[in-house]
Amino acid sequence: MEDCIFCKIIKGEIPSFKVYEDDMVFAFEDINPISEGHTLLIPKIHAQDLWEIPDEDLAAVHLASKKIIQAIKDVLNPTGVACLQLNGRGVNQVVMHYHLHLIPRTAGGPEIPVCAWELKEGDMEAIKQTADKIAAAIK
Ligand code: 5GP
Ligand code: ZN
Repeated sequence: MEDCIFCKIIKGEIPSFKVYEDDMVFAFEDINPISEGHTLLIPKIHAQDLWEIPDEDLAAVHLASKKIIQAIKDVLNPTGVACLQLNGRGVNQVVMHYHLHLIPRTAGGPEIPVCAWELKEGDMEAIKQTADKIAAAIK
């Protein structure tokens, strides 16, 4: 897609700090990292989000994520790696080309914000009703 930043990165029209590439995916460092080693992994085809991405590209992204987080583990020895993926402006997806964030947390480093929510017990009846509606809509 012409005006997509990540498509331009794949084509080399915008520079990036590449860590991995194969026929289907491309991975590079986030230039606004939450932590050292914050990496973005994208399909080479332009698909906006999880609703749009074809199955084979989704599979390629997630298979590549295993290779990359192994390398992150070997190099940075993190206490954990959050794999985060946003769908839609309502959850602050900013770049509308599917991407998986790989966000390592180093020992003693700050919490990764999305991984540190407070647990509050839900309303079981409401949870059940929602679960039933989603389950009934699965195709
Ligand atoms: P989102 O909120 O859409 O999941 O996150 C988009 C991510 O892309 C952000 O973390 C942002 O720092 C990163 N990003 C935006 N523009 C560029 C860019 O030109 N190069 C790189 N490497 N990362 C970018
Ligand atoms: Zn794109």
